[in-house]
Amino acid sequence: MLTQAKTHNLNIQLIREEFPILQTKVRDKTPLVYLDNAATTQKPRAVIESINRFYSEQNGTVRRGVYFLSEQATASFEEARQTIANFINAPKSSEIIFTKGCTESINLVAQCFGAAFLQENDEVIISALEHHANIVPWQMACAQRKAKLKVISINQNGEIDLENFESLLTERVKIVAVSHISNALGSINPIKEIIQKAHKFNIPVLIDGAQAVPHCKIDVQDLDCDFYAFSGHKVYGPTGIGVLYGKTKYLEKMPPYQGGGDMIETVTFEKTTYAPLPAKFEAGTPAIAEAIGLAVAMNYLQTIGLDKIEIYEKQLLNYATDKMQEIPELKIIGNACQKASLISFVLEGVHPHDIGTILDQEFGIAVRAGHHCAQPVMKFFKVPATTRASFSFYNTYTEIDSLIAGIKHILEVFK
Ligand code: PMP
Repeated sequence: MLTQAKTHNLNIQLIREEFPILQTKVRDKTPLVYLDNAATTQKPRAVIESINRFYSEQNGTVRRGVYFLSEQATASFEEARQTIANFINAPKSSEIIFTKGCTESINLVAQCFGAAFLQENDEVIISALEHHANIVPWQMACAQRKAKLKVISINQNGEIDLENFESLLTERVKIVAVSHISNALGSINPIKEIIQKAHKFNIPVLIDGAQAVPHCKIDVQDLDCDFYAFSGHKVYGPTGIGVLYGKTKYLEKMPPYQGGGDMIETVTFEKTTYAPLPAKFEAGTPAIAEAIGLAVAMNYLQTIGLDKIEIYEKQLLNYATDKMQEIPELKIIGNACQKASLISFVLEGVHPHDIGTILDQEFGIAVRAGHHCAQPVMKFFKVPATTRASFSFYNTYTEIDSLIAGIKHILEVFK
């Protein structure tokens, strides 16, 4: 199992030892081969221990306490916000809003930006590559405000059609919301160009970064995006925590998402005034341990080096792609020029659910089978579902060999 990615000094065996769950034997039989990293990533010991440490030594609620534990928890929570701001190069930590995940981050913008800026006959642009989390919230906001949803088309490789995008840009468009990386196909979208083109019309852009933050360095100032959303659990952090980065100029004009404690300045029965950013968007007791755990995950990723992660994962992608292309019955869905370490595929005559079940039962391999919460993408490629293998820097070439052997076995069985 020892795989040395010598060019960038990643010792994968040592890295794997940091992830206790990777030692699992599936049904006491086969070693776990975890290839569903686009759904959620496994957690390094540092993150697991930080959660344990918080509840063992620090647990207190944030912002309100005047005693030791609460002061400590508040300091760690706000430190976590600063770590996350630094990680994506946000100019100010007050532009980092904690949510419960990428889905909530997008819903927050759809509802609150919608309330402030979206009116009848206005338009919202998304792309044909989106996860349902970046479709349905916009449909809901458009229905509430009698606005229209426009969709950028894609080509047969699963790439966004930039000419089509430009043709949709008019003064009626109030926001563009696109994914950085497609969870269904792995396409890396040209978001910098999209942002530049939208900004020529003064249109703000939200980036759904759920699939990008684990794989490459994000610099929201360099991108100049107006909102950037992602989930903690896909970046080696805990579940139940997500991030919304937003530019102050928009966040300040948007009404709060939810009402309750912590998001107010003063309350009377006649009138409530709201707290400044970021508290205005964080009603109620937040996910404190999870926010701290997420910051630990980000520090861990930085210690390994996102540049090294990107290079190694690209090598895994190329290796797996080459091996899969040697199998005549296998068709890769999504062949964008720029791809993250994720492969969606179909096998002639075998349903993806059967592929997923046999890989699990006989080989201990975890892959995703289904529509990946991207039904319009499946419809575009005229497939009901795909099997998706998604790789992390803790995966090995040997694991990819196991996947390929599993696929060949399935083809034999179904012959
Ligand atoms: N966007 C994309 C591209 C995703 O892959 C996902 C998760 N599969 C989401 C949004 C939603 O993330 P979550 O379920 O963690 O809120």
